[in-house]
Amino acid sequence: MALNLVMLGPPGAGKGTQAERFAREHGIPKVSTGDILREAVHSGTALGQAVQAVMERGELVSDDLIIGIVGERLTRPDALAGFVLDGFPRTAAQAKALDEITALRGPVICVEIKVPDEELVRRVRGRRVCDDCGANADAFEHKPDALSDLCQNTERCRAVGPKWVARSDDSETVVRERLKIYWRDTRPMIEYYSARPTFRVIDGLQSPEQVREALVGAVASALGRPVAQ
Ligand SMILES: [Zn+2]
Repeated sequence: MALNLVMLGPPGAGKGTQAERFAREHGIPKVSTGDILREAVHSGTALGQAVQAVMERGELVSDDLIIGIVGERLTRPDALAGFVLDGFPRTAAQAKALDEITALRGPVICVEIKVPDEELVRRVRGRRVCDDCGANADAFEHKPDALSDLCQNTERCRAVGPKWVARSDDSETVVRERLKIYWRDTRPMIEYYSARPTFRVIDGLQSPEQVREALVGAVASALGRPVAQ
């Protein structure tokens, strides 16, 4: 039985990193909509050309096109034993199409990483980046002494110390807007999957390592069999 995993979680919850790691550790591909749309355009297939035309007109890629491209990706040999989806499905029509694609391959497991909006906003407020070398830090989690250790990457950093600045694309307004769009898009997905026995919620307030363990446990319990740690 294949390991068909859909991951849901708000921006900033660490979903992409967890999806990536889970896929790598279980020998299945991580399929993210952004990546495969870029790949389709690059490959120049008929679907790819259709996507490129839509994007050049500045329009949103339709359900049918996304379903066609994801469907094509998921029927390649490396995805037959399973996959981790990140960013798909995003609409009820896409979720139904995914059920059809995987109909003969075992259930779709859906795991939601739950983090309260206020925590995501708080994380963003604490995010700092070294203006010189690009090192990242969290002003709430790292003590001032530890902060200088995080950045020793360039001669200037070592000589005068890091110059921590808030990341401009992480401003609170931007994050709140992203969260609004996330909930608008995702609530119907959660409703679609939540009644199933293969739906799980994990606590995203834990450390990344604990989230990783919780994800492995959630998938095993949804599948009814152990998966590799
Ligand atoms: Zn630095």
